[in-house]
Amino acid sequence: MANLKLSHIYKVYENGHKAVNDFCIDIADQEFIVFVGPSGCGKSTTLRMIAGLETITAGDLFIGDTLVNDMEPKDRDIAMVFQSYALYPHMTVYENMAFGLRNRKMPEEEIKKRVLKAAKMLDIEEYLDRQPKAMSGGQRQRVALGRALVRDPKVFLLDEPLSNLDAKLRAAMRTEITALHKSLKTTFIYVTHDQVEAMTMGTRIVVMKLGYVQQIDTPMNLYNEPYNKFVAGFIGSPQMNFFDVTLKREGDTVTVRFVNGDEVKLPYEKVCKIHEEYLRGDRTVTFGIRPEHVSLNKEGNGLKLIVTNVERLGNETIVYGKLGDALGEFTLKDEGKNIVIKVVDRDDINPDDIVYAVPNPEKVHFFDAVTEITLMNKIPLFNTIHAKVAGDKMELQGHSVALPEAYKKVITGKEITLEIPPFAIVEGKDFELKVSRIEKVDDKNLAYLENGDSYLFALVSDEVKAGDIYHFALANEKINLYENGKEILPAVNDEETMLGTFSKTEVKENGDRVLHFFYNIGDYTIETAPENGYKINSIDGNNCYKYDYKYAVNRDNIRIVGEGEPGLAGEVVGYVNYGNIRFAQVKAAGEQLLIRVSDDFKADKVRLAFDAKDVSVYSTRIDMKLC
Ligand code: ADP
Repeated sequence: MANLKLSHIYKVYENGHKAVNDFCIDIADQEFIVFVGPSGCGKSTTLRMIAGLETITAGDLFIGDTLVNDMEPKDRDIAMVFQSYALYPHMTVYENMAFGLRNRKMPEEEIKKRVLKAAKMLDIEEYLDRQPKAMSGGQRQRVALGRALVRDPKVFLLDEPLSNLDAKLRAAMRTEITALHKSLKTTFIYVTHDQVEAMTMGTRIVVMKLGYVQQIDTPMNLYNEPYNKFVAGFIGSPQMNFFDVTLKREGDTVTVRFVNGDEVKLPYEKVCKIHEEYLRGDRTVTFGIRPEHVSLNKEGNGLKLIVTNVERLGNETIVYGKLGDALGEFTLKDEGKNIVIKVVDRDDINPDDIVYAVPNPEKVHFFDAVTEITLMNKIPLFNTIHAKVAGDKMELQGHSVALPEAYKKVITGKEITLEIPPFAIVEGKDFELKVSRIEKVDDKNLAYLENGDSYLFALVSDEVKAGDIYHFALANEKINLYENGKEILPAVNDEETMLGTFSKTEVKENGDRVLHFFYNIGDYTIETAPENGYKINSIDGNNCYKYDYKYAVNRDNIRIVGEGEPGLAGEVVGYVNYGNIRFAQVKAAGEQLLIRVSDDFKADKVRLAFDAKDVSVYSTRIDMKLC
């Protein structure tokens, strides 16, 4: 078994350059994982940390169940294949392949068996007596693969192994490496900047940019459901087309309006997950459509364009065009309005033709113009509901429900807006709506609840079916509350964060000097496991005892304890009652914390306690989780 786990891995180089940020992935045994992204995005650094060729600044790396952060490369049971082959020029192919095994003092007979087996798999048996210089690039890369193969490693790491080969050989080797992965039944991690390699080889792909993971998904999910504009543009060739547009909903139709005034109509159903705020026609969003998802007509409706170039590739034709400018005129100056279209079996399109492009409504993408994140999240982030306030009640969805005290305190007028995440719609008795359909998203069930002329999205249990009437209530504390467009009460998040310091004591136990490490938050001192202490010390050196740290604890793990018990002293300054849940506002360690309490809880002072194992530690100097 060779599953791997990368948990909050960071790499900060000596010069302060942060090359990898918070890299997290669980890799199952026998997966073929590809790290892909432009040069400098941190792919090789991550691979080299897995190999043990680069130290890990923060985070945990497990191979199988073993934490290997500090394990020597040779003990990790992995083999690495480099772009440069890294063969010994004066040795024969056989010797190159045998070298590592001889170093491990393996019996010659076993070495021979392994080398011959690998040579056969890679079809290089006849070159075993040759030196690398008498071989082609492709053959040398096979030898490099062979040298990894003979070690029978748990994990194969390959760093751009094909980039020195010509296009045809690269394509052939892609197939061979995929076949090798199938027959070896081991875990492969493969680094490339080439999205075609990634798409054709990976069972899952990690797309990276500037040291950050952008998306981890199967090739088809990356293609069909890119999380952001970067992934959308990086995966697929020719690249996805992007345009600035506005979206306006009228009944069942959404009009996509381009800067030049051209319009495309889409059925609302296709874009119903887009938040209503973006559908009012007053907000610029980025529209994305792949070249292969546009059809071309000689006349009729669609986006009018002038053909600037045509590439006939035999089976398919790439048409380059320009949309008209703001007046609908064609000028060749404006870069923003280029469009690329891929059509099959069309030889009737020529430069200077005026044609009409129609995007396939099933294949459209929309991104926020600023954050560049998709507006079509598989699970929408929020439902927006407007409510009227009347005395102690709020009226929404045709129901009148008690206004939570917490809301009452901040509301000044008669109208409020609730931003309700799907997970804040919980089973209950306050409301009911008909389930239009259920969609499986990973392991969750997303219900489309019929809500007038749009949907309310909720996460529901397996028992809920399309056609049911769903009875629900709201988890009031998980809702963002707005009045006149201004947020007046943010949702209560899951964590509390406090500042504190870090310390150690040295004691003699049975004649040995033993170190104990502590988190110090206000007057509360909790001992943490030695491995956490060593981690913090190894990252920050002895300055760690001078620095402040950010300590985060899940709210559910904070307890109120008795007077005499160890804990963080806090002063209760008020209460927030959400109806379904009540919190005490506690001033402690210079922060105001929200601590869950029962309905009748009353106190002026409290002591708060939590377990060290539930505490996450973050640096205050650099955005990094330490443990
Ligand atoms: P990729 O493999 O995606 O091309 P790398 O992992 O090689 O990217 O590099 C990631 C970033 O880290 C780059 O900005 C690179 O310049 C920087 N980097 C790589 N090695 C070092 C080093 N030894 N010292 C400082 N910065 C480095």
